[in-house]
Amino acid sequence: MPSSSIVAVGDELLRGFTVDTNSNWLAGRLFSLGYPVKRIEVVGDVEADIVAAVQDHMARPELVRIFVCGGLGPTPDDRTFQALARALDRPLVYDQATGAAMQNLMFSRGIAKLRGTAELNAGNRKMAMVPEGSVILRNGPGMAPGIAFPLVSDRFLFAMPGVPPELRSLFRDWIEPGYLRDGSAPAVGELHYHLAPESAFAEAMLALESEYPDVSLGSYPQTELGRLIIRASGSDSARVQQVLDEIRRRVGRYQPLA
Ligand code: ATP
Ligand code: MG
Repeated sequence: MPSSSIVAVGDELLRGFTVDTNSNWLAGRLFSLGYPVKRIEVVGDVEADIVAAVQDHMARPELVRIFVCGGLGPTPDDRTFQALARALDRPLVYDQATGAAMQNLMFSRGIAKLRGTAELNAGNRKMAMVPEGSVILRNGPGMAPGIAFPLVSDRFLFAMPGVPPELRSLFRDWIEPGYLRDGSAPAVGELHYHLAPESAFAEAMLALESEYPDVSLGSYPQTELGRLIIRASGSDSARVQQVLDEIRRRVGRYQPLA
């Protein structure tokens, strides 16, 4: 099964000011679309760290879709495009159409009037400097565009804005329809138990792991609710269901909630 990875960029994520909701949202979407995430890496706004993370992910051929999120903005702490240019060994080039779209936004949002000019400032121009060979992904609600960069053997590297609603709309508008159509959604099934200890499931789970190597099985206690979720997933829905039926049968002491 093809898989994907995420590099989330931002000092605020590493310092605990911001929760990395982008990786969480992306991981859920990518799992459902049949490109499960194998690796999530969080790095600060440090060019060398972004380069190292991206090169590491590119060196793993199983990661066929690599998503870098954050750091596309106008300020000097936004370094993602510079880092990607280095990681890909491509120069940064100014994208005219992006510049023009930014100018239109400046008029339609009254920014040009406020500034007394429609000239793009250095920060605006920076957002339109992308690694040569990038496909521009227009950012509906925001200024900074994303990019898709083709790697060899049908692999792609993406850069997406960090602002969560912008990331989501860009993903839905361009990436899902353009680059993630060939995945097949896995089957997922769950059993919910009330006040059942995880240890009661260990033996059955261990056996089922080797009997059904194609089904991934996990136990997730929800401590505050006194609940335990046993979740199975895999590409074959009948096999996923069989595993859950076996858990029910083999752990007869506890009955799942309806
Ligand atoms: P902008 O054009 O607004 O500068 P950007 O791509 O540069 O976009 P950042 O500057 O890195 O994005 O972040 C913009 C906002 O989004 C910040 O408030 C930041 O904390 C938030 N943000 C960034 N990354 C994440 C993330 N992984 N999860 C949740 N919020 C995030
Ligand atoms: Mg940032």
